[in-house]
Amino acid sequence: MKTEIQKEKILVTGGAGFIGSHIVDRLMETGNKVIVFDNFSSGHMEFIEQHLGKPNFTLIKGDLLNAEEIYAACEGIDLVYHVAANPDVKLGSVDTRVHFDQNITATYNVLEAMRRNNVPNIVFTSTSTVYGEAEVIPTPEEYGPLVPISLYGASKLACEALITSYSHTFDMKSWIFRFANIVGDRGTHGIIVDFIQKLRDNPQQLEILGDGRQSKSYLHVSECVKAIMFVVNNSNEAVNIFNVGSEDTINATEIGEVIVEEMGLENVEFTYTGGNRGWKGDVPRMLLEVEKLKRLGWNSGYSSERSVRETVHSLLH
Ligand code: NAD
Repeated sequence: MKTEIQKEKILVTGGAGFIGSHIVDRLMETGNKVIVFDNFSSGHMEFIEQHLGKPNFTLIKGDLLNAEEIYAACEGIDLVYHVAANPDVKLGSVDTRVHFDQNITATYNVLEAMRRNNVPNIVFTSTSTVYGEAEVIPTPEEYGPLVPISLYGASKLACEALITSYSHTFDMKSWIFRFANIVGDRGTHGIIVDFIQKLRDNPQQLEILGDGRQSKSYLHVSECVKAIMFVVNNSNEAVNIFNVGSEDTINATEIGEVIVEEMGLENVEFTYTGGNRGWKGDVPRMLLEVEKLKRLGWNSGYSSERSVRETVHSLLH
């Protein structure tokens, strides 16, 4: 007789968002019991509606800042993917509270919910911005000191510290992923979405923040999710920290050129707001070392350009 494989009960905070909904798709495909916890502040019902009504899918409309709601949602859970956050890096310069509340306090509430319910495993979506303006590029996971230059980066670093300390103090296991720029279908924010919007409003001109030479690594969300699943299945330390990105960069002007080409536009004038960064807290050059991921056995064939081009294509069609 075949033994039935025990599927896990997995809670995904932010599961109705861009990256979260792709994680949910993958977890559903592999037959897990999936519970999405989302307040729909930037999430969308249409990203998860394909799963509504399935017996192994539950949606909880809840807010991580209401501690009791997340405490209740964590009962009987084996693994939490904590993806919910406010991911808008620019916002920190005009609203100093939002990342503290939505990222640090929200993460504390998730960890407390886990501790109270004896949930043993957490996956966390962190960011390259924890490195600040790194002097070593490509930047490896062990780079330090970590000196974020945005309030967003600071909040995510604080979340990482809470997660690693909870892991060691309360015998939890954690997987922390420091993402480069993740792009793809269902993307709702970031440079590609901004440029497409600007060009739809005015197909003759594109305003680019900074000098256009800010160059960063971009990775398609499909590859990002594959990397996460691979690492979670193949690493088993108390704390597992991995960079996730492509191995090259593309700059803001080049992204503009890809979008203009994919939109079939001609004679578009590029204008620049000037300065070497897009906004206060923007890191002008970012490339993560992914040797640790490769040593574990995972390798993405995606370049930054391919990631951007496929994203533009899917957002336009
Ligand atoms: P997103 O805004 O699409 O997703 C965030 C989700 O969390 C949304 O569905 C939102 O409704 C939900 N949410 C926010 N606050 C909540 C709260 N208080 N309670 C319940 N739900 C809440 O963003 P994304 O780009 O998919 O980012 C997902 C994660 O990946 C975030 O943690 C972000 O910091 C991280 N990240 C993203 C990128 C990127 O390039 N997109 C890069 C590095 C790290």
